[in-house]
Amino acid sequence: MSSLDDLYRRVIMDHYQNPRNRGELQDDGSVTINLNNPTCGDRIQLQMKVENGKIEDVKFMGEGCSISMSSASMMTQAVKGATVEEALKLADIFSGLMKGEEIDDDDLDLGDIEALQGVAKFPARIKCATLAWKALQQGANQA
Ligand code: ZN
Repeated sequence: MSSLDDLYRRVIMDHYQNPRNRGELQDDGSVTINLNNPTCGDRIQLQMKVENGKIEDVKFMGEGCSISMSSASMMTQAVKGATVEEALKLADIFSGLMKGEEIDDDDLDLGDIEALQGVAKFPARIKCATLAWKALQQGANQA
């Protein structure tokens, strides 16, 4: 398990140090969601451009701990180009992952997101990991 933990830690640090889709969307047709996690001090701004039920573009800004920022980076990577329906399904799966639920869908490839599953063992950090996904759910409902 420890080598797997090491691998996961490296994936998390890579997303923290080289965040994907960080920045602001210039397009006026995008939805902007601001959320924060007061227990840790994490803040995120998520912008989504949704067209015909598909997330055409997504970007985030913010600051916080490595868990919150890497989770935001992984989330945007996973949902960019996906339909809103697919993105919300993924948000549900991630929420389950944070509750320590086993993923029994073998066809499902979570990619880098898998690296965050260990967070479920640290209840104080779960809100860090789910912050970006809550922003995604709010944004999807507004789009
Ligand atoms: Zn945090």
